[in-house]
Amino acid sequence: MTYNAYGLSRDIPADVKRLVRQRCGFGCVICGLGIVQYEHVDPEFKDAKIHDPEAIALLCPQCHAKITTRMWSKARVKLAMRSPKCRQVGYAREFFDFVEVHPALRFGGVLLTNCPTPIQVSGHPLFRIRPPETEGEPFLFSGLFTDSNGEVSLVIEDNEWKAFSNSWDVEVKGQTITIREAHKVVHLVLRVDPPKTVIVEKLNMSLGGIRFEANGDFLKVTQPNGSISELTSCIFDNCLVGMAF
Ligand SMILES: [Zn+2]
Repeated sequence: MTYNAYGLSRDIPADVKRLVRQRCGFGCVICGLGIVQYEHVDPEFKDAKIHDPEAIALLCPQCHAKITTRMWSKARVKLAMRSPKCRQVGYAREFFDFVEVHPALRFGGVLLTNCPTPIQVSGHPLFRIRPPETEGEPFLFSGLFTDSNGEVSLVIEDNEWKAFSNSWDVEVKGQTITIREAHKVVHLVLRVDPPKTVIVEKLNMSLGGIRFEANGDFLKVTQPNGSISELTSCIFDNCLVGMAF
């Protein structure tokens, strides 16, 4: 652990990080990319006496480098902090990577492999996987997630993901995206294990009257008529449509 001259630790407390994410709209204040670092801007860390969320910005590694090397001015970040990119466009974005192999979807207790439409709801694909347009290019994964009230929180379009800034919290750590709809209320934990797998580790999602609840190796689906399916350790392989609701 490193401390500055005022005895302030480099480690920013979790609740301060969350306030910074919320203010910045969950992505780089300058360009809106969703893989970010926390940077003390004004004052800089060496001069900071506290971890003030108003003084810390989310920056993607590239924008961070431009500022640290002084390729770009500090004024550029301060301007962006007043009007963060994600707050302007409404989402933070980044890309998944599914090179060479047809990605599998692990959806709670269900593993869907080699399925172009792993899950379909009311006749429409909830997730769709297309082969590469050119050989050697990535497979193209699309889909969406909603929260427990049916509000869309994450959209994936041909591998580009967009996490909407009106969520309560979006946190990207390593390979995992966690979205909360209130304090300590997680409705999505999505982990990618490239190039092969998309893993829905936790989910509480409502879509068209259907509720999907996933937790580890368990999936519960409640239909609008109240009928419940509970699935664990299920595999669908080589189906045009894996599961249809
Ligand atoms: Zn950036």
